[in-house]
Amino acid sequence: MRIIKKIDELRAVVKDWKKNGLSVGLVPTMGYLHEGHKSLIDRAVSENDRVVVSDFVNPTQFGPNEDLETYPRDINADAALCEAAGADVIFNPEAEEMYRDALTTVNMTKITEVLCGKTRPTHFAGVCTVVSKLFNIVTPDRAYFGQKDAQQLCVIRKMVSDLNFDIEIVGCPIVREADGLAKSSRNTYLSREERQAALCISRGLNIGKGMVEGGEESAAAVIEAVENEIRREPLARIDYVEAVDYNDLKPLVKIQKPFLCAAAVYIGKTRLIDNFIVE
Ligand code: AMP
Repeated sequence: MRIIKKIDELRAVVKDWKKNGLSVGLVPTMGYLHEGHKSLIDRAVSENDRVVVSDFVNPTQFGPNEDLETYPRDINADAALCEAAGADVIFNPEAEEMYRDALTTVNMTKITEVLCGKTRPTHFAGVCTVVSKLFNIVTPDRAYFGQKDAQQLCVIRKMVSDLNFDIEIVGCPIVREADGLAKSSRNTYLSREERQAALCISRGLNIGKGMVEGGEESAAAVIEAVENEIRREPLARIDYVEAVDYNDLKPLVKIQKPFLCAAAVYIGKTRLIDNFIVE
């Protein structure tokens, strides 16, 4: 497995693969890889001849008061995980290599303005821009994204359709810790007490999921039950809990499928997201 830092070098490697008729999978990440990322890499390895994992803490998707500087990084551990999983290349560019004096961004309206977009108004432009660039650099046949970031997956699918990228987007289920907490690179910020407190998110969402599976039709009732469970935890502060149509992310009154119940919750200073989807 190779660690590549330059765009031209990666392009040359991919060109060679394509010349030999090999299919290419791309797994975009911000590094500090865990089992959630690994599930995407495993799937990509099983479905493609060659796999590129991008490992890039993308500055443009962080807001001014967010955790860009402190975001955890460990390229050696990431390389070991990718190698063991059977990936062929880690693409680990510097921000300067990716952006130089770029003046272009990829913006999307509507579905980027709801849920996480309300408190992170520039986030999805950063995501769409970097993912477009990765798509153009790697030209993958398939790209793999986690349902953990359900809104991001929805945004990427829409971007691929709107901009006619000839790439199959594969959504992969959320990988959790044994006690239910969704795996996240940001979990490393949590103290022991906060780590325990963070369980209120998956607990709350599980209650909501049980209600929907039991036939509950009122979105407001589901949201209220999820919020009530999270509010029982003193270290938790809710950013949002919302129930939306998973196609257009519009709020639902009556539950209909596909349905996304998404939550963003601060545990101390750490903002965590989680969700459940009923297809
Ligand atoms: P990140 O490095 O946090 O930007 O995540 C890179 C990719 O891994 C995104 O598509 C995420 O949705 C996915 N991912 C992160 N955590 C998980 C998880 N716990 N389960 C499944 N996918 C995940």
